[in-house]
Amino acid sequence: MHIFFGKAPLIAHLRPIISANSTIGFVPTMGALHAGHLALIQRSLDENKITVVSIFVNPTQFNNPDDLAKYPRTLDEDIQKITELNSEIILFAPSVEDIYGQNTISQTFDFDGLENVMEGKFRPGHFNGVGTIVKYLLEIIQPTKAYFGEKDFQQLQIVKKLVAKNHIPVTIIGCPIAREHNQLAMSSRNERLSAEEREKASIIYQTLLEVKEKFEKEDLKTIYQYVQKTFDNNTIFDLEYFAIADEESLLPCLEKEKNKKYRAFIAVFVNNIRLIDTISLN
Ligand code: AMP
Repeated sequence: MHIFFGKAPLIAHLRPIISANSTIGFVPTMGALHAGHLALIQRSLDENKITVVSIFVNPTQFNNPDDLAKYPRTLDEDIQKITELNSEIILFAPSVEDIYGQNTISQTFDFDGLENVMEGKFRPGHFNGVGTIVKYLLEIIQPTKAYFGEKDFQQLQIVKKLVAKNHIPVTIIGCPIAREHNQLAMSSRNERLSAEEREKASIIYQTLLEVKEKFEKEDLKTIYQYVQKTFDNNTIFDLEYFAIADEESLLPCLEKEKNKKYRAFIAVFVNNIRLIDTISLN
């Protein structure tokens, strides 16, 4: 595997590959790799000649310093997992200074309102941090395709908007959510849960499945109440938000409209560890 800890040698390595018009697939991650990440990487391997994976815990997208400090960092294991998948993968694992220099601050973006709801509302500045790092990485790596998980569906829509508004020549590919044996969405943060919390957290996806079933026949207000009550009755969980939103605008709604695609979105705290999930409803 080719590992680069700085952008200058990475750019030098990629330059002839870009000039030769070879296809480059790019998978940005924050590491602590699990099967969800590996599925994205595999898809990139299948669809491109070259695959670049980045591992960078991006400080500017964390609104909570404790979450940033406790974010799992497992570079040695990550390198082993990537090598087992394919020894030709290019790994970019820069330092904060290499990316930001002395000023670890984000740019300000206008994502036409996609940034103001749900994750954006509850994590102020989060999507400016995401926009800053994704734009920067796309500019230096110049991939043909970049792969993002539907687990972070709002992020996926925002990255598509970022690319469209800045005319970045890359195709953004959304990939399905990988789940643990109990259907909990895989996440690097799951590592921080106790065995009991991890098992009980299956309630998040079970609730979303119930919501999907109810979506057919019940009004949305009743569904919102059902979700609130479910988490009120489970005291180890603290529901931050639940929303049913149109997939395009991501605006949470109380009434269904014909010919629109809807999704349910949820964020839950378990022992101060924040978990999110989403499901398509129609
Ligand atoms: P992260 O390391 O959490 O920033 O995630 C890196 C990429 O992997 C993002 O595009 C995520 O949406 C994606 N991802 C994370 N967890 C999953 C999962 N369970 N299934 C599919 N994709 C995921």
